Amino acid sequence: MRWLVLFFMLMGMVPVVMAQEGGSTPPPTTTIHVVQRGDTLFTIAQLYGTTVEAIMTANNLSDARFIEVGQRLLIPNARPGINPNTNLPHVVQPGETLYTLDSQYPASLDELMLLNHVVHPRRLYVGQVILVGDATRTDETFSLYVVQAGDYPLRIAARFGLTLERLRQLNGLDEWTPIVPGMTLLVPKQAKPLLNLPTPLTNLTLNPTIPAQGQSVSLKMETSVPIQATIEFMERTYQVGTIDPTHYAAILSIHAFADAGVYPIRLNLLGEHPTTYELRIEVQDGGYGSEAIDFPADREYLLEASVVQPELDRVIAVVTPFTPQRYFDGLMSLPAASTMTSPFGTRRSYDGSPYNTFHGGADFGGAVGTPITAPAGGVVVFAEATQVRGNAVIIDHGWGVYTGYWHQSEIFVQVGQTVNRGDTIGTLGGTGLATGPHLHWEMWVNGVQVDPMQWVQQAFP
Ligand SMILES: [Zn+2]
Repeated sequence: MRWLVLFFMLMGMVPVVMAQEGGSTPPPTTTIHVVQRGDTLFTIAQLYGTTVEAIMTANNLSDARFIEVGQRLLIPNARPGINPNTNLPHVVQPGETLYTLDSQYPASLDELMLLNHVVHPRRLYVGQVILVGDATRTDETFSLYVVQAGDYPLRIAARFGLTLERLRQLNGLDEWTPIVPGMTLLVPKQAKPLLNLPTPLTNLTLNPTIPAQGQSVSLKMETSVPIQATIEFMERTYQVGTIDPTHYAAILSIHAFADAGVYPIRLNLLGEHPTTYELRIEVQDGGYGSEAIDFPADREYLLEASVVQPELDRVIAVVTPFTPQRYFDGLMSLPAASTMTSPFGTRRSYDGSPYNTFHGGADFGGAVGTPITAPAGGVVVFAEATQVRGNAVIIDHGWGVYTGYWHQSEIFVQVGQTVNRGDTIGTLGGTGLATGPHLHWEMWVNGVQVDPMQWVQQAFP
Protein backbone atom coordinates (compact mmCIF):
# COMPACT_ATOMS: atom_id res chain seq x y z
CA MET A 1 0.00 0.00 0.00
CA ARG A 2 2.72 2.40 0.93
CA TRP A 3 4.44 1.98 -2.43
CA LEU A 4 1.15 2.47 -4.21
CA VAL A 5 0.62 5.74 -2.38
CA LEU A 6 4.16 6.81 -3.15
CA PHE A 7 3.48 6.02 -6.79
CA PHE A 8 0.42 8.25 -6.78
CA MET A 9 2.31 11.01 -5.05
CA LEU A 10 5.15 10.83 -7.53
CA MET A 11 2.61 11.04 -10.32
CA GLY A 12 1.25 14.18 -8.65
CA MET A 13 -2.10 12.54 -7.90
CA VAL A 14 -4.08 12.05 -4.74
CA PRO A 15 -5.45 8.49 -4.39
CA VAL A 16 -8.96 9.63 -3.37
CA VAL A 17 -9.39 11.46 -6.66
CA MET A 18 -8.51 8.27 -8.53
CA ALA A 19 -11.12 6.37 -6.53
CA GLN A 20 -13.93 8.56 -7.84
CA GLU A 21 -16.01 7.15 -10.64
CA GLY A 22 -17.22 8.91 -13.74
CA GLY A 23 -13.93 9.91 -15.32
CA SER A 24 -13.29 13.54 -16.23
CA THR A 25 -16.81 15.03 -15.99
CA PRO A 26 -18.65 14.27 -12.72
CA PRO A 27 -22.47 14.07 -12.95
CA PRO A 28 -24.35 17.32 -12.08
CA THR A 29 -25.12 17.61 -8.37
CA THR A 30 -26.85 20.07 -6.08
CA THR A 31 -25.72 20.79 -2.54
CA ILE A 32 -27.56 22.89 0.04
CA HIS A 33 -25.61 25.57 1.89
CA VAL A 34 -27.03 27.20 5.04
CA VAL A 35 -25.89 30.84 5.08
CA GLN A 36 -23.64 31.60 8.07
CA ARG A 37 -22.80 34.96 9.64
CA GLY A 38 -20.12 36.63 7.51
CA ASP A 39 -20.92 34.63 4.37
CA THR A 40 -21.18 36.44 1.06
CA LEU A 41 -22.10 34.92 -2.28
CA PHE A 42 -18.48 35.34 -3.25
CA THR A 43 -17.10 33.38 -0.27
CA ILE A 44 -19.78 30.71 -0.72
CA ALA A 45 -18.94 30.39 -4.41
CA GLN A 46 -15.26 30.05 -3.48
CA LEU A 47 -16.06 27.43 -0.87
CA TYR A 48 -17.79 25.19 -3.39
CA GLY A 49 -15.63 25.96 -6.40
CA THR A 50 -18.53 27.52 -8.31
CA THR A 51 -19.45 31.05 -9.40
CA VAL A 52 -21.62 33.80 -7.90
CA GLU A 53 -23.63 33.85 -11.14
CA ALA A 54 -24.33 30.09 -10.97
CA ILE A 55 -25.63 30.38 -7.39
CA MET A 56 -27.77 33.44 -8.28
CA THR A 57 -29.33 31.59 -11.22
CA ALA A 58 -30.01 28.42 -9.21
CA ASN A 59 -31.75 30.43 -6.47
CA ASN A 60 -33.50 33.10 -8.58
CA LEU A 61 -31.57 35.85 -6.80
CA SER A 62 -31.68 39.27 -8.43
CA ASP A 63 -29.24 41.08 -6.11
CA ALA A 64 -26.04 39.41 -4.87
CA ARG A 65 -25.98 41.59 -1.74
CA PHE A 66 -29.15 40.26 -0.17
CA ILE A 67 -28.65 36.92 1.55
CA GLU A 68 -29.71 36.24 5.13
CA VAL A 69 -28.18 34.17 7.91
CA GLY A 70 -30.01 30.82 7.99
CA GLN A 71 -31.14 31.09 4.36
CA ARG A 72 -30.74 27.86 2.39
CA LEU A 73 -29.03 28.18 -0.95
CA LEU A 74 -28.90 25.59 -3.68
CA ILE A 75 -25.31 25.15 -4.84
CA PRO A 76 -25.17 23.70 -8.32
CA ASN A 77 -22.26 21.39 -9.14
CA ALA A 78 -20.37 21.79 -5.90
CA ARG A 79 -16.98 20.30 -6.57
CA PRO A 80 -17.09 16.66 -5.52
CA GLY A 81 -14.53 15.56 -2.98
CA ILE A 82 -14.37 18.98 -1.31
CA ASN A 83 -16.24 18.84 1.94
CA PRO A 84 -17.10 22.40 3.05
CA ASN A 85 -16.88 21.38 6.70
CA THR A 86 -13.28 20.28 6.42
CA ASN A 87 -12.17 22.67 3.70
CA LEU A 88 -9.36 24.33 5.58
CA PRO A 89 -8.22 27.91 4.95
CA HIS A 90 -4.49 28.52 4.77
CA VAL A 91 -3.10 32.05 5.17
CA VAL A 92 -0.22 32.54 2.73
CA GLN A 93 3.16 33.31 4.33
CA PRO A 94 6.17 34.93 2.62
CA GLY A 95 7.80 32.43 0.27
CA GLU A 96 4.73 30.27 -0.19
CA THR A 97 3.26 29.45 -3.61
CA LEU A 98 0.63 26.97 -4.73
CA TYR A 99 3.54 24.59 -5.39
CA THR A 100 4.62 24.68 -1.75
CA LEU A 101 1.01 24.33 -0.55
CA ASP A 102 0.54 21.43 -2.96
CA SER A 103 3.42 19.60 -1.29
CA GLN A 104 2.11 20.42 2.19
CA TYR A 105 -1.53 19.43 1.68
CA PRO A 106 -3.13 16.41 0.04
CA ALA A 107 -5.02 18.42 -2.62
CA SER A 108 -3.37 18.40 -6.04
CA LEU A 109 -2.08 21.54 -7.72
CA ASP A 110 -5.01 21.42 -10.18
CA GLU A 111 -7.50 21.11 -7.33
CA LEU A 112 -5.92 24.05 -5.49
CA MET A 113 -6.00 26.20 -8.64
CA LEU A 114 -9.64 25.37 -9.35
CA LEU A 115 -10.82 25.71 -5.79
CA ASN A 116 -9.19 29.13 -5.37
CA HIS A 117 -9.56 30.44 -8.93
CA VAL A 118 -5.80 30.93 -9.06
CA VAL A 119 -4.34 31.26 -12.54
CA HIS A 120 -0.65 31.76 -11.65
CA PRO A 121 0.51 29.32 -8.93
CA ARG A 122 3.45 31.57 -8.01
CA ARG A 123 1.47 34.80 -7.83
CA LEU A 124 -0.01 34.57 -4.34
CA TYR A 125 0.22 37.48 -1.95
CA VAL A 126 1.10 37.30 1.71
CA GLY A 127 -2.03 37.08 3.83
CA GLN A 128 -4.13 35.65 0.97
CA VAL A 129 -6.52 32.97 2.19
CA ILE A 130 -6.23 29.76 0.17
CA LEU A 131 -8.68 26.91 0.64
CA VAL A 132 -6.57 23.76 0.79
CA GLY A 133 -9.28 21.11 0.54
CA ASP A 134 -9.96 18.27 2.89
CA ALA A 135 -6.77 17.83 4.89
CA THR A 136 -8.16 14.72 6.58
CA ARG A 137 -7.77 12.74 3.37
CA THR A 138 -4.22 11.66 3.91
CA ASP A 139 -1.81 10.44 6.54
CA GLU A 140 1.31 10.56 4.43
CA THR A 141 4.64 11.21 6.04
CA PHE A 142 6.18 12.32 2.75
CA SER A 143 5.58 15.32 0.59
CA LEU A 144 6.85 16.61 -2.72
CA TYR A 145 9.40 19.31 -3.32
CA VAL A 146 9.94 21.06 -6.66
CA VAL A 147 13.63 21.86 -7.18
CA GLN A 148 14.10 25.62 -7.56
CA ALA A 149 16.56 27.59 -9.65
CA GLY A 150 19.63 28.13 -7.46
CA ASP A 151 19.01 24.99 -5.38
CA TYR A 152 21.78 22.47 -5.16
CA PRO A 153 21.36 18.85 -4.04
CA LEU A 154 23.34 19.03 -0.79
CA ARG A 155 21.32 22.02 0.39
CA ILE A 156 18.00 20.38 -0.44
CA ALA A 157 19.05 17.28 1.49
CA ALA A 158 20.20 19.34 4.47
CA ARG A 159 16.99 21.33 4.47
CA PHE A 160 14.95 18.14 4.94
CA GLY A 161 17.33 16.58 7.43
CA LEU A 162 18.68 13.97 4.98
CA THR A 163 22.07 12.94 3.69
CA LEU A 164 22.51 13.34 -0.05
CA GLU A 165 22.67 9.52 -0.36
CA ARG A 166 19.33 9.15 1.43
CA LEU A 167 17.69 11.82 -0.75
CA ARG A 168 18.83 9.97 -3.89
CA GLN A 169 17.82 6.57 -2.49
CA LEU A 170 14.34 7.89 -1.57
CA ASN A 171 13.84 9.07 -5.14
CA GLY A 172 15.42 6.11 -6.89
CA LEU A 173 18.21 8.25 -8.34
CA ASP A 174 21.77 7.12 -8.84
CA GLU A 175 24.64 9.48 -8.27
CA TRP A 176 24.92 10.24 -12.00
CA THR A 177 21.37 11.58 -12.32
CA PRO A 178 21.46 15.37 -12.07
CA ILE A 179 18.99 17.10 -9.77
CA VAL A 180 17.76 20.05 -11.82
CA PRO A 181 15.25 22.89 -11.36
CA GLY A 182 11.65 21.81 -12.00
CA MET A 183 12.31 18.22 -10.88
CA THR A 184 9.91 16.92 -8.24
CA LEU A 185 11.51 15.12 -5.29
CA LEU A 186 9.96 13.03 -2.58
CA VAL A 187 11.02 14.41 0.81
CA PRO A 188 9.97 13.83 4.43
CA LYS A 189 6.98 15.94 5.40
CA GLN A 190 8.09 18.98 7.37
CA ALA A 191 6.46 20.49 10.38
CA LYS A 192 7.86 23.82 9.18
CA PRO A 193 6.13 25.14 6.05
CA LEU A 194 8.03 24.78 2.83
CA LEU A 195 9.13 28.05 1.34
CA ASN A 196 9.90 28.88 -2.22
CA LEU A 197 12.82 31.23 -1.55
CA PRO A 198 15.93 31.80 -3.63
CA THR A 199 19.40 31.01 -2.27
CA PRO A 200 20.74 32.37 0.08
CA LEU A 201 17.38 33.20 1.72
CA THR A 202 16.30 30.40 4.05
CA ASN A 203 13.46 32.14 5.86
CA LEU A 204 11.45 35.33 5.53
CA THR A 205 8.80 36.65 7.91
CA LEU A 206 6.60 39.71 7.96
CA ASN A 207 4.94 41.12 11.05
CA PRO A 208 2.13 42.02 10.77
CA THR A 209 1.35 39.71 7.87
CA ILE A 210 -1.52 41.94 6.70
CA PRO A 211 -0.60 45.50 7.73
CA ALA A 212 -2.86 48.54 7.61
CA GLN A 213 -2.33 52.11 6.39
CA GLY A 214 -0.07 54.02 8.79
CA GLN A 215 1.60 50.90 10.20
CA SER A 216 5.19 49.67 10.41
CA VAL A 217 6.11 46.22 9.11
CA SER A 218 9.01 44.16 10.41
CA LEU A 219 10.60 42.17 7.56
CA LYS A 220 13.06 39.57 8.90
CA MET A 221 15.37 37.49 6.75
CA GLU A 222 17.43 34.41 7.55
CA THR A 223 20.23 33.57 5.12
CA SER A 224 22.76 30.79 4.66
CA VAL A 225 25.62 33.25 4.10
CA PRO A 226 26.28 36.89 5.06
CA ILE A 227 24.52 39.34 2.75
CA GLN A 228 24.03 43.00 2.06
CA ALA A 229 20.57 43.99 0.98
CA THR A 230 18.19 46.79 0.14
CA ILE A 231 14.43 46.60 -0.10
CA GLU A 232 12.06 48.51 -2.36
CA PHE A 233 8.50 49.06 -1.18
CA MET A 234 5.92 51.68 -2.15
CA GLU A 235 8.48 53.68 -4.14
CA ARG A 236 10.93 53.94 -1.26
CA THR A 237 14.26 52.19 -0.78
CA TYR A 238 14.99 50.69 2.65
CA GLN A 239 18.34 49.84 4.18
CA VAL A 240 18.53 46.49 5.93
CA GLY A 241 19.84 46.19 9.49
CA THR A 242 22.11 43.36 10.62
CA ILE A 243 21.15 41.27 13.66
CA ASP A 244 23.97 38.73 13.12
CA PRO A 245 25.73 37.42 9.96
CA THR A 246 22.72 35.24 9.00
CA HIS A 247 19.82 37.30 10.41
CA TYR A 248 18.71 40.64 9.01
CA ALA A 249 15.69 42.88 9.31
CA ALA A 250 14.20 46.03 7.88
CA ILE A 251 11.39 48.15 9.25
CA LEU A 252 9.05 49.14 6.41
CA SER A 253 6.52 51.94 6.70
CA ILE A 254 3.12 52.48 5.10
CA HIS A 255 1.86 56.02 4.62
CA ALA A 256 -1.46 56.78 6.32
CA PHE A 257 -2.88 57.91 2.95
CA ALA A 258 -1.57 54.90 0.94
CA ASP A 259 -4.40 53.19 -0.95
CA ALA A 260 -5.48 49.83 0.45
CA GLY A 261 -4.48 47.01 -1.91
CA VAL A 262 -1.75 44.56 -2.83
CA TYR A 263 1.80 45.94 -3.17
CA PRO A 264 5.10 44.32 -4.18
CA ILE A 265 8.12 44.19 -1.87
CA ARG A 266 11.35 43.75 -3.79
CA LEU A 267 14.45 42.37 -2.05
CA ASN A 268 17.84 43.08 -3.63
CA LEU A 269 20.43 40.74 -2.11
CA LEU A 270 24.12 41.29 -2.72
CA GLY A 271 27.01 39.07 -1.67
CA GLU A 272 28.17 35.61 -2.69
CA HIS A 273 24.86 34.84 -4.48
CA PRO A 274 23.40 38.16 -5.69
CA THR A 275 19.69 37.76 -6.32
CA THR A 276 16.38 39.59 -6.27
CA TYR A 277 13.13 38.32 -4.88
CA GLU A 278 9.67 39.83 -5.03
CA LEU A 279 6.73 39.07 -2.79
CA ARG A 280 3.38 40.81 -2.50
CA ILE A 281 1.50 41.94 0.57
CA GLU A 282 -1.97 43.20 1.17
CA VAL A 283 -2.33 46.61 2.83
CA GLN A 284 -5.66 47.09 4.55
CA ASP A 285 -7.63 50.24 5.24
CA GLY A 286 -6.68 51.73 8.62
CA GLY A 287 -10.28 52.60 9.50
CA TYR A 288 -9.27 56.13 10.57
CA GLY A 289 -11.91 58.68 11.52
CA SER A 290 -12.02 62.38 10.74
CA GLU A 291 -12.25 65.59 12.75
CA ALA A 292 -12.41 69.34 12.18
CA ILE A 293 -10.12 71.58 14.25
CA ASP A 294 -10.42 75.33 14.82
CA PHE A 295 -7.54 77.40 16.13
CA PRO A 296 -7.73 80.57 18.22
CA ALA A 297 -7.37 83.64 15.97
CA ASP A 298 -4.10 84.72 17.62
CA ARG A 299 -2.35 81.48 16.56
CA GLU A 300 -3.76 81.16 13.05
CA TYR A 301 -0.60 82.66 11.52
CA LEU A 302 1.12 79.39 12.54
CA LEU A 303 -0.95 77.57 9.88
CA GLU A 304 0.64 79.64 7.09
CA ALA A 305 2.63 77.54 4.61
CA SER A 306 5.56 79.95 4.98
CA VAL A 307 5.79 78.92 8.65
CA VAL A 308 4.73 75.26 8.39
CA GLN A 309 6.80 74.11 5.40
CA PRO A 310 10.35 75.16 6.41
CA GLU A 311 9.85 73.59 9.85
CA LEU A 312 8.47 70.36 8.36
CA ASP A 313 11.41 70.25 5.90
CA ARG A 314 13.83 70.48 8.83
CA VAL A 315 12.08 67.64 10.69
CA ILE A 316 12.08 65.43 7.57
CA ALA A 317 15.81 66.09 7.06
CA VAL A 318 16.48 65.04 10.68
CA VAL A 319 14.33 61.86 10.62
CA THR A 320 15.35 60.42 7.22
CA PRO A 321 18.95 59.08 7.61
CA PHE A 322 19.50 55.38 8.34
CA THR A 323 21.64 54.74 11.44
CA PRO A 324 23.14 51.20 11.26
CA GLN A 325 23.20 50.85 15.07
CA ARG A 326 19.90 49.68 16.57
CA TYR A 327 18.87 51.01 20.00
CA PHE A 328 15.33 49.58 20.17
CA ASP A 329 14.58 45.98 21.13
CA GLY A 330 11.13 44.64 21.91
CA LEU A 331 8.14 46.67 23.05
CA MET A 332 8.36 50.42 23.54
CA SER A 333 6.91 51.98 26.70
CA LEU A 334 4.40 54.84 26.74
CA PRO A 335 6.13 58.26 26.73
CA ALA A 336 3.96 59.71 29.51
CA ALA A 337 1.93 58.40 32.43
CA SER A 338 -1.31 59.82 31.06
CA THR A 339 -4.14 58.82 28.76
CA MET A 340 -4.16 59.00 24.98
CA THR A 341 -6.64 61.69 23.98
CA SER A 342 -6.31 61.52 20.17
CA PRO A 343 -5.06 58.61 18.06
CA PHE A 344 -2.77 58.63 15.04
CA GLY A 345 -4.23 58.78 11.55
CA THR A 346 -7.44 60.78 12.01
CA ARG A 347 -8.15 62.72 8.83
CA ARG A 348 -8.11 66.43 9.72
CA SER A 349 -9.55 69.68 8.51
CA TYR A 350 -8.03 72.87 9.99
CA ASP A 351 -10.25 75.97 10.11
CA GLY A 352 -12.54 74.70 7.34
CA SER A 353 -9.85 73.35 4.95
CA PRO A 354 -10.41 70.04 3.08
CA TYR A 355 -9.62 66.76 4.93
CA ASN A 356 -6.30 66.41 3.18
CA THR A 357 -4.06 66.09 6.25
CA PHE A 358 -3.99 63.47 8.98
CA HIS A 359 -3.01 63.45 12.63
CA GLY A 360 0.65 62.44 12.44
CA GLY A 361 1.03 61.21 16.01
CA ALA A 362 -0.74 60.11 19.16
CA ASP A 363 -1.74 62.76 21.71
CA PHE A 364 -1.52 62.34 25.47
CA GLY A 365 -3.42 64.73 27.71
CA GLY A 366 -2.19 65.76 31.14
CA ALA A 367 -1.13 68.58 33.42
CA VAL A 368 1.70 70.91 32.38
CA GLY A 369 4.90 69.49 33.91
CA THR A 370 4.01 65.80 33.59
CA PRO A 371 7.32 63.98 32.89
CA ILE A 372 7.96 62.70 29.35
CA THR A 373 10.15 59.59 29.18
CA ALA A 374 12.03 57.90 26.34
CA PRO A 375 10.04 54.81 25.23
CA ALA A 376 13.23 53.09 24.01
CA GLY A 377 16.94 53.79 23.86
CA GLY A 378 18.39 56.17 21.30
CA VAL A 379 20.35 59.33 20.59
CA VAL A 380 18.81 62.82 20.78
CA VAL A 381 19.10 64.43 17.32
CA PHE A 382 16.85 67.49 17.79
CA ALA A 383 16.08 69.55 20.92
CA GLU A 384 14.91 73.14 20.46
CA ALA A 385 12.02 75.62 20.48
CA THR A 386 10.08 75.72 17.18
CA GLN A 387 7.03 77.75 16.08
CA VAL A 388 4.59 74.96 15.17
CA ARG A 389 5.87 72.07 17.31
CA GLY A 390 6.80 74.25 20.29
CA ASN A 391 9.61 72.82 22.42
CA ALA A 392 10.46 69.71 20.45
CA VAL A 393 12.72 66.69 20.90
CA ILE A 394 13.52 63.98 18.35
CA ILE A 395 15.23 60.68 19.29
CA ASP A 396 17.02 58.48 16.74
CA HIS A 397 16.43 54.82 17.69
CA GLY A 398 18.52 53.47 14.78
CA TRP A 399 17.57 51.57 11.60
CA GLY A 400 15.61 54.56 10.28
CA VAL A 401 13.28 54.73 13.31
CA TYR A 402 12.76 58.12 15.03
CA THR A 403 10.30 59.41 17.62
CA GLY A 404 9.29 63.07 18.18
CA TYR A 405 7.87 64.86 21.24
CA TRP A 406 6.14 68.18 20.57
CA HIS A 407 4.65 71.04 22.67
CA GLN A 408 6.86 70.39 25.75
CA SER A 409 6.93 72.94 28.56
CA GLU A 410 10.59 72.12 29.25
CA ILE A 411 13.37 70.17 27.49
CA PHE A 412 15.91 68.27 29.64
CA VAL A 413 18.14 66.77 26.93
CA GLN A 414 20.67 67.99 24.37
CA VAL A 415 21.51 66.97 20.82
CA GLY A 416 24.06 64.12 20.82
CA GLN A 417 22.96 62.79 24.21
CA THR A 418 22.32 59.03 24.48
CA VAL A 419 19.10 58.13 26.32
CA ASN A 420 17.89 54.84 27.74
CA ARG A 421 14.33 53.60 27.93
CA GLY A 422 12.57 55.39 30.82
CA ASP A 423 14.91 58.42 30.98
CA THR A 424 13.03 61.72 31.44
CA ILE A 425 13.61 63.92 28.38
CA GLY A 426 11.28 66.83 29.25
CA THR A 427 7.83 67.79 30.50
CA LEU A 428 4.37 68.01 28.95
CA GLY A 429 3.16 71.46 27.88
CA GLY A 430 1.16 73.47 25.36
CA THR A 431 3.87 75.34 23.42
CA GLY A 432 3.62 75.91 19.64
CA LEU A 433 0.50 75.11 17.61
CA ALA A 434 -1.59 73.40 20.31
CA THR A 435 -5.18 73.90 21.45
CA GLY A 436 -4.23 72.94 25.04
CA PRO A 437 -1.49 71.19 27.03
CA HIS A 438 -0.71 67.74 25.62
CA LEU A 439 2.16 65.62 24.39
CA HIS A 440 2.05 64.93 20.67
CA TRP A 441 4.10 61.72 20.22
CA GLU A 442 5.22 61.07 16.69
CA MET A 443 7.10 58.25 14.97
CA TRP A 444 8.94 58.27 11.65
CA VAL A 445 10.20 55.15 9.87
CA ASN A 446 12.40 55.74 6.81
CA GLY A 447 10.95 59.25 6.46
CA VAL A 448 7.27 58.21 6.74
CA GLN A 449 5.02 59.08 9.69
CA VAL A 450 3.54 55.93 11.23
CA ASP A 451 1.43 55.07 14.27
CA PRO A 452 3.71 55.00 17.36
CA MET A 453 1.12 53.07 19.39
CA GLN A 454 1.76 49.99 17.25
CA TRP A 455 5.26 49.89 18.80
CA VAL A 456 3.80 49.74 22.31
CA GLN A 457 1.81 46.64 21.32
CA GLN A 458 4.18 44.87 18.91
CA ALA A 459 7.82 44.01 19.58
CA PHE A 460 10.25 45.19 16.88
CA PRO A 461 12.30 44.04 15.03
ZN1 LIG B 1 -1.18 65.61 18.04
